[in-house]
Amino acid sequence: MHPLLQKSLSFERLTPEEALLLLKEAEWTEVAQAANAVRHAKLPGKRVGYTVYRIINYTNVCSVNCSFCSFARKAGERGTYVLSLEQIRSKAEDAKKLGADQIFLQGGVNEELPIEYYTDILRMLTQELGMSVRGFSPVELVRIADAHKLTLVELLNILKAAGLSSVPGAGAEILSDRIRKILSPRKLSSLEWRNTLAVCQKNGLPGSANIVIGTQENPEDIIAHLDLVRGLQDETGGVKSFVAWTFQPQTHDFPIRHVTPMEYLKLLGLSRLYLDNIRHIEVSVLGMGKAVGELGLVSGADDINSIVLEENVLESQGIRGIAEAENFIRGAGFTPYRRDLNFTCDL
Ligand code: SF4
Repeated sequence: MHPLLQKSLSFERLTPEEALLLLKEAEWTEVAQAANAVRHAKLPGKRVGYTVYRIINYTNVCSVNCSFCSFARKAGERGTYVLSLEQIRSKAEDAKKLGADQIFLQGGVNEELPIEYYTDILRMLTQELGMSVRGFSPVELVRIADAHKLTLVELLNILKAAGLSSVPGAGAEILSDRIRKILSPRKLSSLEWRNTLAVCQKNGLPGSANIVIGTQENPEDIIAHLDLVRGLQDETGGVKSFVAWTFQPQTHDFPIRHVTPMEYLKLLGLSRLYLDNIRHIEVSVLGMGKAVGELGLVSGADDINSIVLEENVLESQGIRGIAEAENFIRGAGFTPYRRDLNFTCDL
């Protein structure tokens, strides 16, 4: 076994330089094996989590223009939409019938919508329908606050009072400014993304973090990303889980490359080892499929991410129902448990 993996097995924190060496040099099977051992030491037993929510992309109007995104439209373009309160209610009620109790609200960055649009939706979802809501990526929050001349904390207080209980670490992709300049120069910088989430988490809105690989990132970019997330978690404790995703083909002018199962599983394992302060590591069955999903559960992951009931951004190869999720987890040799987006079962 690579000597640096022994350090992780002794629960000593890896430095960025050490993680970089592991990413470049270690065999994926060794990383996966060490990550599996650490997962079981930290979370003994065979429990594997899943959750059920519906994503509601409330608008596709977006002023940011990320190169990989086929979902967004500029204001005034053909094909733009903004969902009404009633349309969102109907989607949420459909999700409830299918067993979802949570909504993930995410839009483009649409600076034209009044604050009441958001608060009415949040009140309807939480107070009328009794659902919990995770919503708004860091860039949405920053731009909404700017458009309404509010500080971020003022905006968060308004959204929390209306029912928001969690903010996702969405829009992270690769938290390296070298890559962000290529993919999404008009999105938040790495530091802005981190600092925005830190404010959310310190103000009672925990969330998640992710990484998306499969473009022009290099090992240094990946370690910079993991280090930024670990530092955020050291500061806030508000990152409830971490998931590794891969870019999916969306636009013609965005180069993606094939991520092999071995590369994915090595990163998943390294995430378990490097992010020693994040309790839950999720394997993306949605992005990587069931076979890699099963391997992920013996490579450091203790969760299969989510059953997705609607996702406009990504074509699904995931799991579409509660029974299917539980069968999949049992079939992989584990015991399923259902959790919510904030892992309140851990409290
Ligand atoms: S990824 Fe998000 S922020 Fe970027 S263009 Fe698409 S909707 Fe806008």
